[in-house]
Amino acid sequence: MSRTLKAVRGTRDLLPPETALWNRIEATARSVFARYNFGEIRTPIFEDTGLFARSVGEETDIVSKEMYTWEDRARAQSEKTQSLTLRPENTAGVVRAYIEHQLGETGQLQKLYYIGPQFRRERPQKGRYRQFSQIGAEVIGPPSAGSESPLRDAEVLEMLATLLDELGITGWTLELNSVGSAADRARYNETLRAALVPVVGQMCVDCQRRAITNPLRVLDCKVPADQPIIDKLPVIADSLDQASVAHFAAVTAALEAAGIPYTRNNRLVRGLDYYTRTTFEFTHGGLGAQNALLGGGRYDGLSEAIGGPRAPGIGFAMGEDRLVLTLQAQESAAPQVVVDAFIAPLGEEMNAAALALARELRRQGLRIELGDGSFRLKKSFEAADKTARRIVILGEDELQSGILTVKTFATGMQSKVSRAELAAYLSTTASE
Ligand code: ATP
Ligand code: MG
Repeated sequence: MSRTLKAVRGTRDLLPPETALWNRIEATARSVFARYNFGEIRTPIFEDTGLFARSVGEETDIVSKEMYTWEDRARAQSEKTQSLTLRPENTAGVVRAYIEHQLGETGQLQKLYYIGPQFRRERPQKGRYRQFSQIGAEVIGPPSAGSESPLRDAEVLEMLATLLDELGITGWTLELNSVGSAADRARYNETLRAALVPVVGQMCVDCQRRAITNPLRVLDCKVPADQPIIDKLPVIADSLDQASVAHFAAVTAALEAAGIPYTRNNRLVRGLDYYTRTTFEFTHGGLGAQNALLGGGRYDGLSEAIGGPRAPGIGFAMGEDRLVLTLQAQESAAPQVVVDAFIAPLGEEMNAAALALARELRRQGLRIELGDGSFRLKKSFEAADKTARRIVILGEDELQSGILTVKTFATGMQSKVSRAELAAYLSTTASE
């Protein structure tokens, strides 16, 4: 016997009716993004490995251990063997496209959003998968277009609050921090490095490595025993220069004016190396250990890091899988999709006429399930009762007279309805 094949660990099939929720989330996101004048960008699912190594950063969890990378062998002399990677996030791809298509030359701010799968080799658990979907957006452009303005940060955060509200996600928390300029970060890294010397011996092996390679990453550590040590380390707020302090103050002032609640989290440095100044996360208590709904921040030096022109920007990525989990936990029972009518042909010879009737009704916008006359009527009734609000019986008499028998399950009422009035009748709800 051959082995049964299953979806690969960390990947999932999404089935109806759950896919309806995914579609609703995506439709809401598209509608909100449109109102803020964002346009959609679709970048390739795989990119040159170097793109992620240079933008996300070698020392991050993503690049050091989570990427799906392979050598793509040359197939012709004109081709080179190239190291390729399934995208673990989408900001790098968007900024690469920004550079490649010289979008900065327009002199305008680029406001781009994406929705799509990302891939990371992580330990699968609730809310953490190896293929997952992100909904994200970026605001990027030359400084002359105002891309560095704190107003852009505040507007993105306000848009996110609006999006979560429109999705119906209640009880979220916005955590905010500033990691300063590249120089501030470098200074803080040195402060941390020094502060870690006497304590790092008591910390986990990852932190011992980070203390040397990239001390900032110590703040990401999730090992419980390390937490009291980390809580006593110097905070980045004390290493920020005047310009970064003023930038952050302008962001928070705009948020306060818009009535968006936030809390400052000194340890929020985020897992990607390219962040500067504003960093943020929206968390939700209902998610358990994987409590981040989304994360983002400003990345003023990213474009230059991958060979582009100066192009400051700010963006975020929401975990769509975690939005779905949150909404499922909130909505007590997922509403079962119910079709307007089930058409039951009486005998196989009525099947063709039933398809024609179904076509007529579907073209008028009704949701119709088509039965099969080779089944007994009792079986059709049972199937209809599970899926539809009403059953329409189509036999030889009904076809000739143009008068159909319709039963409404909720009330048990049976009526005779003319074919001309059928669509209107089926559009009314059972109680009407
Ligand atoms: P975490 O701390 O949960 O690992 P992260 O810092 O790696 O998150 P980001 O790279 O900022 O996450 O990605 C943005 C969002 O994408 C996260 O807030 C989360 O909602 C979602 N996300 C990240 N990794 C996964 C995953 N493996 N499965 C599902 N969603 C994910
Ligand atoms: Mg992660």
